[in-house]
Amino acid sequence: MKIPDYIKNILGELEKAGYEAYLVGGCVRDLLMDRIPFDWDITTNAQPDEIQKVFPDSVYENDFGTVGIKIRHSESETEIVEVTPFRKEESYSDKRHPDKVTFTSNIEDDLARRDFTINAMAMGLKLEARSTKSKTNSNVQNSNTISDFNLVDPFEGQKDIESKIIRAVGEPEKRFGEDALRLMRAVRLAAQLGFEIEPQTQSAVKKHAPSLKMIAHERIRDELVKLVASADPEKGIILMQELGLLKIVLPEVEEGVNVAQNKHHIYNVFEHSVKSLGFAAKYNFNVYVRWASLLHDVGKPRSKEGSGPEASFHGHEFIGAKMVTRALERLKFPKDFIEKVYTLVRYHMFYYNVGEVTERSVRRLVRKVGPENMAELLELRQSERKGSGVPKAEPYKLRHLKYMIDKVSRDPLTVGMLKVNGNDVMQTLGIEPGPKVGYILNALLEEVIDEPARNDRERLLARMKELNRLPLSELIKLAEAGREKLEDEKEKENESIKKKFYV
Ligand code: ATP
Ligand code: MG
Repeated sequence: MKIPDYIKNILGELEKAGYEAYLVGGCVRDLLMDRIPFDWDITTNAQPDEIQKVFPDSVYENDFGTVGIKIRHSESETEIVEVTPFRKEESYSDKRHPDKVTFTSNIEDDLARRDFTINAMAMGLKLEARSTKSKTNSNVQNSNTISDFNLVDPFEGQKDIESKIIRAVGEPEKRFGEDALRLMRAVRLAAQLGFEIEPQTQSAVKKHAPSLKMIAHERIRDELVKLVASADPEKGIILMQELGLLKIVLPEVEEGVNVAQNKHHIYNVFEHSVKSLGFAAKYNFNVYVRWASLLHDVGKPRSKEGSGPEASFHGHEFIGAKMVTRALERLKFPKDFIEKVYTLVRYHMFYYNVGEVTERSVRRLVRKVGPENMAELLELRQSERKGSGVPKAEPYKLRHLKYMIDKVSRDPLTVGMLKVNGNDVMQTLGIEPGPKVGYILNALLEEVIDEPARNDRERLLARMKELNRLPLSELIKLAEAGREKLEDEKEKENESIKKKFYV
């Protein structure tokens, strides 16, 4: 495992100035496991102002003593490496932030405040490896391997790495009581590393689960994002459920626990959701598909009617899509992320059968879902079918649909693909910029989607004059016809269910 020169140089410079300096935490864990570290953390017995004296090109702007050292990889690329003085933390009255942070001169005190034994190790450069010579470039060199380092491991983290165990440093009950984010970190690390949580640590997680409510949604989201993107997210979500974290963080998914489905499924709603997520990860699908796989059926418990093999879940994709939006908004996901997952969940029930579905209806599907979301919608279908436990002969159907999508995607599906644009509308009709321009273009598009041959410039220019003579309300109806009509009808159908559940 290689350690970049610029990291080794920071350690070397601090040592040269007479301080102790170590790589610490997650990067040491990852190096020992032959994984690529996500970030590099360095700790030292130098105080913040002393660190800044050694590295003038640095910033110091938080309460924890962390100094950010600027590394200029190139003209346009700089990286900040964080160097933090050895710290020990004292009491935590809010389960989030230590009431005060104290610096210490002892690396072992600093390691003792860390969450898990595998994260509580440090590595210092061996004496003979300290010469930094004139290595000013930041490229990784073959020479910097962990054999150049001494390991500081007072809590037997290396042993726990070997046994694949996540174990709290010190008394688990006390440690989760101090900082409830550690509850999420435990399950996230288990999913990322494929480790088990040691039994005492596990029962402390269970006991402290409710205190997760005290933690900012953004911080929980960051851990969840890592968990879902990990190698084994299925394991992570199941652990969260078993340990009582899921009902706090994602109650929408918890609702599916023990909700039986029907003859098309062998798993209950929760099992099906995590298995779908598992397949999405196995197939290496991106984060949107993974989140949609986990969430696509959250509307099922609330829309279930009847029981046994004939139970039905009409409209669960509408209810579910709304629940998904709320859940992701609560967790402070970015707007475009929410929109994308919403779209996948909202349309995951799309109907497709070879021979039965026309090109026109495929064009409508692509138009509604958005050409940019189609690949992911198909991947969602793939992981979700696999996750049902009774996969039917979908691969051929999906291949055929892909072919159809490919075929129709050369047809105009968005206003941008029309042979006329907004300027043409304004010039031809002598109107100002405004919503009407959009209505005209969309009404034209609706007709073109029904019949691509209509995308002829002369014809469109003539047709827009006719449309311009319609009353505005008529025009709006035409403009929104294909996109909205179908949805409205379905939504009405579900009105009663929605009322019942306040969604
Ligand atoms: P990642 O691979 O995602 O970076 P990480 O374990 O390195 O995982 P960081 O957030 O980078 O996580 O934290 C660096 C180190 O700081 C951890 O390895 C751990 O030693 C310590 N740490 C982080 N968060 C906590 C916490 N809530 N309580 C105690 N120690 C923590
Ligand atoms: Mg890290």
